Amino acid sequence: MLETLRRIVQEVNAVDDLQQAMNLIVQRVSAAMNTDVCSIYLLTTEPNRYVLMATQGLRQESVGKVTLGVSEGLVGLVGLREEPINLEDAPSHPRYLYIPETGEELFHSFLGVPIIHQREVLGVLVVQQCSKRRFDESEEAFLVTMSAQLAAVIAHAEAIGSVFGVGTVQQIDVRFAGVAGAPGVAVGNAHVMYPGADLDAVPDKTVEDVDAEAARFRAALEHVRGDIRALQEKLAGMLPAEEQALFEVYMRMLDDSALGGEVLLLIRDGQWAPGALRQITQEHVHHFELMEDAYLRERAADIRDLGCRILAYLQDAGSSQTEIGPDTILVGEELTPTMLGEVDQEHVVGMVSRLGSGNSHLAILARAMGIPTVMGCIDLPFQQVEGDEIIVDGYGGLVITNPSPGMIRQYREVIEDEAELAQGLEALHDLPSTTSDNYRVQLWVNTGLLSDVARSLEQGAEGVGLYRTEVPFMINDRFPSEEEQRQNYRKQLQAFHPAPVTMRTLDIGGDKALSYFPIHEDNPFLGWRGIRVTLDHPEIFLVQVRAMLRASEGLNNLRIMLPMICNVLEVEEAQYFIHRALYEVREEGAKVKMPEVGVMVEVPSAVYQARHLARRVDFLSVGSNDLTQYLLAVDRNNARVSDLYHPYHPAVLQALKQVADDAHMEGKQVSICGELAGDPGAALLLMAMGYDILSMNAANLPRVKWVVRNFTLHESKELLDEIMRMDNPYVIRAYLHHMLEKAGFGRLVRPGPLLGTTTEREVPVVATSAGNDPA
Ligand code: PEP
Ligand code: MG
Repeated sequence: MLETLRRIVQEVNAVDDLQQAMNLIVQRVSAAMNTDVCSIYLLTTEPNRYVLMATQGLRQESVGKVTLGVSEGLVGLVGLREEPINLEDAPSHPRYLYIPETGEELFHSFLGVPIIHQREVLGVLVVQQCSKRRFDESEEAFLVTMSAQLAAVIAHAEAIGSVFGVGTVQQIDVRFAGVAGAPGVAVGNAHVMYPGADLDAVPDKTVEDVDAEAARFRAALEHVRGDIRALQEKLAGMLPAEEQALFEVYMRMLDDSALGGEVLLLIRDGQWAPGALRQITQEHVHHFELMEDAYLRERAADIRDLGCRILAYLQDAGSSQTEIGPDTILVGEELTPTMLGEVDQEHVVGMVSRLGSGNSHLAILARAMGIPTVMGCIDLPFQQVEGDEIIVDGYGGLVITNPSPGMIRQYREVIEDEAELAQGLEALHDLPSTTSDNYRVQLWVNTGLLSDVARSLEQGAEGVGLYRTEVPFMINDRFPSEEEQRQNYRKQLQAFHPAPVTMRTLDIGGDKALSYFPIHEDNPFLGWRGIRVTLDHPEIFLVQVRAMLRASEGLNNLRIMLPMICNVLEVEEAQYFIHRALYEVREEGAKVKMPEVGVMVEVPSAVYQARHLARRVDFLSVGSNDLTQYLLAVDRNNARVSDLYHPYHPAVLQALKQVADDAHMEGKQVSICGELAGDPGAALLLMAMGYDILSMNAANLPRVKWVVRNFTLHESKELLDEIMRMDNPYVIRAYLHHMLEKAGFGRLVRPGPLLGTTTEREVPVVATSAGNDPA
């Protein structure tokens, strides 16, 4: 059964069109299960009814015509119960509804399973048989598994608007849900980025000069042929004759009468070479994958490999073509910070990544750079949007393709509004972050790229609470030398001097990969990351700390912070290395002061040991991004569980409060440097908890300052008291937003018309906050 299932799934995935996929499923399932009937009913929204979409065994004329209400018939019952219904004699069931058009009076046994995607019933998959019999458990299991696969196919097709016969009409304002990556909205033209030689990620594109494109493809083919010949000669004496024949097979696959010729035909139709290569390779790969014979199935991998080799040459020839025009929205399967580096960032107004979540490094980078971004937009057919005008809503985590003029107008208004809001907030630049009852909380920034420095200074940052040193490591192709690191760190320290700069030692592993130091683990977030890596590699740690210390000579504004600390021994070992590095650089003549050293609290064990940790260091800083992930067991990069990632979860808030109290009990300063600090509502709570420093992305600083200056410490403590008594993260968030709206800060939590609300459109009057200013 498993093998049959695998084959059906592969066949279904190979067709582009949902109707075709459904037709294929009903045929294959009824053949595999040997039933007289297999049908698919899908639930439409307006009206809310089941429509017979495909059948094998019932009358074909009834397809698209027969419909049932949501609670009608056995189909309706399967949907309502959300579980399989298996009946020996369906007509004798009280809910049986006889529909003459289908001709189903012949059939007695009935097995219906719901088609469910992300908790939502999309339809019902049914098999029927003339004879009276109960389907056995393995048949039921087969149909349930089939339906789960079908659910994903339907959900995808629904998302792209090709269900219910509208596939041929181009729908307008098609919405694709993702997760909010970086705030802001953008209207622009999509440019699809794809990683080198990743055939599946190549988009469709049309070309004008077909001859030039064909020549480009032929040249790439010739290169690959040359490579194969060279390999063949190299291995001539080492391989038995049969194996050598494989090279001939390869050569033939590239022939004009095979793969090569088919690709050229598509190019002649106007498709660009990489797109044509993708289509043909995928077709052949699917063809081979469907074969019964295991040896022949393996050939699919060969074809894929050949395709990638050709693609690599095509890309080399055209790798300088990363030119983009103004108002570009970068789109990709998995956009990475390095891809952003391949284009002119001036022109990038938005980004959309099919994979990743709001806490991926691309999103962190996007927030730092102020580029509206949507992550985890799983259903977006990103290969088909090249050059299209699309909308990115980084507040709601939404992408809109084929937008109507009205929709574009609405979003452009929001963009103008935002610009006005930013101007209003500029007036806050030189004002202190003091509450209206005169309590001072320090607002610092998180940095990583050099471009963050100017932006941070513009926004009036009072210090750097987290300099992510891995960022310069990530954009390199080797470990930077001590001197390169020193120069880099010096620029940061100088730019903010005399304000303090907190440099975190290298935090790689987990989701932060260095291409030149690959770590392969099944469970990377619980694996070798952060301080665990650097304590195992003193040569990396010592060089980095030496570079930091030497960079601080004469400036003395360096603070060193240790990531992912889980126990006190790690702190002691790291301190030993820091002292050793200090001793060494002083021996070499550098006049360096011992910097303050602090620990990040970002795993639950550190929360419970906060007092012991605080005793050993100068400060604690909470990394709420990781702390939330580890407390809630929710991967911060997994879009499927991103709705469970609740920084306002009572458990997270309790932990945050406890760390602040424990640090103060030991007389140590406590800060927070996770994304939460940049959320205006959370910032009030954190201030009330006693956090001395809130460190955030520069883009959020003016908003947080604006809120801080308009509340009293007393009010925020009252709010915290109320919230700490609540037990439901959804209620907490809603309540906090409600309180902010009531105080006139709705614009900060709800960006106007985009989320279906049009009430709060006016730009905040920042002058009132200046008026409240006691200074
Ligand atoms: C955090 O975990 O909250 C943090 C600030 O570190 P990073 O996001 O770089 O892991
Ligand atoms: Mg972290």
